[in-house]
Formats: sequence, structure tokens, C-alpha cells
Amino acid sequence: MMTRTVYVNGRYLPYGEAGVHVEDRGFQFGDAVYEVCEVNGGRLVDETRHVQRLARSLMELAIRRPMTPAALSRVMRETIRRNRVTNGLVYVQVSRGARPRDFLFPPDHVEPTVVCLARSIPPGRLEAAAAAGIAIKTMPDTRWARCDIKTVMLLPASLAKEAARKEGAREAWFVDPDGHVTEGASSNAWIVDKEGRLITRQADIAILRGVARTTLIDLLKRENIELLERPFTVEEARAAREAFVTSATNTLMPVVSIDGQPIGNGSPGILTLRLRAEFHSAAEIADA
Ligand code: PLP
Repeated sequence: MMTRTVYVNGRYLPYGEAGVHVEDRGFQFGDAVYEVCEVNGGRLVDETRHVQRLARSLMELAIRRPMTPAALSRVMRETIRRNRVTNGLVYVQVSRGARPRDFLFPPDHVEPTVVCLARSIPPGRLEAAAAAGIAIKTMPDTRWARCDIKTVMLLPASLAKEAARKEGAREAWFVDPDGHVTEGASSNAWIVDKEGRLITRQADIAILRGVARTTLIDLLKRENIELLERPFTVEEARAAREAFVTSATNTLMPVVSIDGQPIGNGSPGILTLRLRAEFHSAAEIADA
């Protein structure tokens, strides 16, 4: 088996030797942001949007930008190349750096920590999941008030996915105190109503503005499919014709049940599968 290589602060290291300092703020405070970009057939999908969102996350938290987009682009590609990833993902994380533990920010000269890794995902695994569709478990949204920032504070998401898995569900949908679905633990949530309109929550601070979400919206415009950006309730979702989630690595993943109740006829939706098949035609595709 090939040794995996990880980029850490300017160096490419063997997987087993790669590490960051024990006093890294990502480790102690969750003071770090990240991106996950799809690698599809040796191409990088929607790099520009991911890099722009990373810059926004950094800006919102006043973490210094560690390198130019061009340099980051080289790091991502080199990490993909060294790990021979044709289909899978590239992960970039930037923390505020390492410093003796203190709630206050470190002085300006402290360098952000940058990690990049790339991992293969057999395409057959995602296709099999999409052909079967996934189950969803709903649970209260216990996260913080700035879910628009892609931070590594993923404990609520981890707890939610674990609870979902115990009930045979692949994803959790968070529900706000009004009974509206915010988003998935690691995806955006969508339904198709009886009129064939798509509904997804508006991208306010309660959700992450998913890159796959934005690309799908471009595709919907091109295909003249009506979209309503508004909150929807769990009851509405249960009565929907189709449901699905979007994320960079899954693109569109059909949802076939919510809390054990089937959606539509209990199999992946026709429109969902059509949009899944067309998704990459609306995405930015570049050589990796
Ligand atoms: N919402 C949350 C909370 C996520 O963690 C993710 C991705 O990991 C998404 C939405 C989907 O975002 P993207 O389409 O950019 O992968």
C-alpha cells in the first residue's frame, strides 16, 4: 500500500509523521477553518468557489490568509498528485496557529497552520449509495449562531451523524426551534414539492452556503426549474415528492426516508437523479 503524503506548513510528509503542535489553536479551541473539494476523474471541481469561501471564513474570524490562492492551488494539486487521487477529495485546513494556550488571539507574527490532504473515494461507493438513496434522522440544531463559517467545530455534527447511524440513517437533518430544517450535518437539505419546485433554506447565518448548493442553483437556472429559497418544516419534507442533500463529495444524494417514513414512493427521485447526472456540467472543472 502506498504511503500517503500530507502537506503541513510548507512540507510534504509521510502520513504517519505528519502532525501539528499540541498547542495548535485548532486543537485547543477549534480555532480553524477548512474546505473539502471534490476530485472527479482527475479534475478539481469548483476550486474557485471553495477557495473564495475559505478566504471568507478566514476573514470572518480574522485569521491571516496563509498564502495566495495561486499558492494554495499548487499545494492542493501537488497533494492530489502525490497521493495519486483520481476520484476523491482534497481537504485544506487553516488554523490560527500554535501558541501557549490563551483565549486571546496570538500576536501577528504567529503563522497560521496549514494542512492539506487528499484521499481517494471509489466512485462505485457513491454511485451505489445514490442508487439506493439514504435515510435521514432529524434532530435539534444545537450548533452555534454562525454556521455560515466553515469551522472545524464539528462536534454537534459528529454527535448527530453518530446518532443517525445508530438508526440506520446516513445523514442527520438539523431542525431549528420553529420546526424548520436548517441543513444536514455535513450537507445542505433540499425537497421537491408536489408542483415540482425545489425548496432549500436561504443561505443566512444558520447554514453553510454549500458550494454544491450554489452550483446546483446555477444548473436550475439553466434548466428553468423553479427554486424557492425559504425554510421548510419536517412535516413538509415528509410530504415532499422528492428529497436530497448536496455536498462537494456527494454532489446530489437522494433521500428516501426521514425518521423512518418513506419520501415519495421510497426510492430516489427522478428529478434528483437527473440533476445528479447533470451536476458537473454546471460546475467549474479544472485539471488537478
Ligand atoms: N452544510 C454543512 C454543515 C457542511 O458541513 C457541508 C459540507 O461539508 C455542506 C453544508 C455542504 O457544503 P459543500 O457543498 O460546499 O460541500
